Amino acid sequence: MTTVTRSGWPERVEAAAGDGSGRDAGAVRVLVVEDEVRQAAALKRGLEAEGYAVDVASNGTDGLWLASEQPYDAVVLDVMLPGLNGYRVCAELRARQIWTPVLMLTAKDGELDEAEALDTGADDFLSKPFSYVVLVARLRALLRRGAAARPAVLQVGRLRLDVGTHRCTVDGSEVELTPREFSVLEYLMRRAGEVVPKSEILAHVWDFAFDGDENVVEVHISALRRKLGAGAIDTVRGAGYRVVARGSG
Ligand code: CA
Repeated sequence: MTTVTRSGWPERVEAAAGDGSGRDAGAVRVLVVEDEVRQAAALKRGLEAEGYAVDVASNGTDGLWLASEQPYDAVVLDVMLPGLNGYRVCAELRARQIWTPVLMLTAKDGELDEAEALDTGADDFLSKPFSYVVLVARLRALLRRGAAARPAVLQVGRLRLDVGTHRCTVDGSEVELTPREFSVLEYLMRRAGEVVPKSEILAHVWDFAFDGDENVVEVHISALRRKLGAGAIDTVRGAGYRVVARGSG
């Protein structure tokens, strides 16, 4: 038996024999980034049997592209990949402000470290060879956690940011932001009430390879104040910036 997902995604999902859970196959989309053909096929088969709609990318470059362009609910990402390795794919996704939960597959006794996987913004990791049951359990946990940890709509006072549709409003009126301005504001709003150092804004919003001047942050903060109202973002001298609840003014 095959089903076509609710989203119209052309993926055909094999229903698990004897599963009978009635889960909606259209509900959860998972991207598997794995270059080893047999492993990738086994993951796809297994995850589809769990009711997920699964796409496979066989190298880091394609994986990054798909994960950037498509709204996946989770990414299973191998570390050792041709093209970009898994760490770089994950770091680049986070640099693009894409927060899809990532479960990284690391090689046991490999030269690449699990702590490093978490440093690059992965949400969890699993050493190869792994138990399939454990993989599915970890993935379920990530799917549950992902949505709650990173709400799609951020609201601070009169400022509202819809991360899904990339819309920003002040008191309900839409404000046009450039992608970079949006990312700076999103980062500040995710840490609302905190003073966020310029260096951290730079590290999170600009490309991880960016080695330019921190003044680029000031330029974007000035632009945001012009658009949102001068009172929307406080400067804490020598410490950083803080988004504040009073919004425009
Ligand atoms: Ca691999």
